[in-house]
Amino acid sequence: MFDIGSQNRAPNPNNLNDDYQDFLCSVANGADRADALGVRRRFARLYGEWFPPFDWIDLPPHKGYYREVSAWWNTDLGELPAEEPDETFGLHVVILRRKLRVIWLLASSRVETEAMHRIDQLSTHYYRSYCLDLRERNEDRLRRLSGACHWLRKNVEKLKVCENTRCEQLTKYFVRRWNNHKYCSDSCVQEADELRRQEQSKTKPRKHFKRSSEARERMSQSATERWARDRQGSGLKRGEHRAKPRKPRGSG
Ligand SMILES: [Zn+2]
Repeated sequence: MFDIGSQNRAPNPNNLNDDYQDFLCSVANGADRADALGVRRRFARLYGEWFPPFDWIDLPPHKGYYREVSAWWNTDLGELPAEEPDETFGLHVVILRRKLRVIWLLASSRVETEAMHRIDQLSTHYYRSYCLDLRERNEDRLRRLSGACHWLRKNVEKLKVCENTRCEQLTKYFVRRWNNHKYCSDSCVQEADELRRQEQSKTKPRKHFKRSSEARERMSQSATERWARDRQGSGLKRGEHRAKPRKPRGSG
């Protein structure tokens, strides 16, 4: 029998942390529904057994539960579109994704106490459904999911939602590696930069120069010549600067 106290404790010493992180990010980012067949297959192969087998007979109660979850697992920090069941997992993954995205959005916006509270709810839900499951009490599954919840608790301050408002990557919900890590990928950094530039050019009118372009060209030319003369005088090469005198160590 599964020990009731262990639901909040660390899973066993085998290093499963990477598995938990990969599992949680895959669910949150919708790897089970990715366009790429390879990504969907990988998810089913690695994590198929983390969910109870799906039977179409179960669908009506699942739909009812999903409605409840959608009503209770909500936040105005981000949009969470409703999803349809599929034939592999029914709504099992969809329901967990909904919960994980709420947790991620809260944690990402530094509402960590609320995020922790949600993680506890998730963990309790898995334990309760295990106890109430009359068909098969799958201890392995409970251990994995409890382990994943434990991982979430331990890493709550690292959960981050990509700040690129147009992010559609399969990494949008990610684990931050440094404190102000804001974007999930290099392409999101670039896209966010581009969006910012577009916004700025909308609000700031184009710069009008007082002098004509010929006059500006002449000024630029004479500055270049002046710097070249200065460099000759100082013996420095282009781009070099005279080092500032260093303070002796230990002073001050
Ligand atoms: Zn992104």
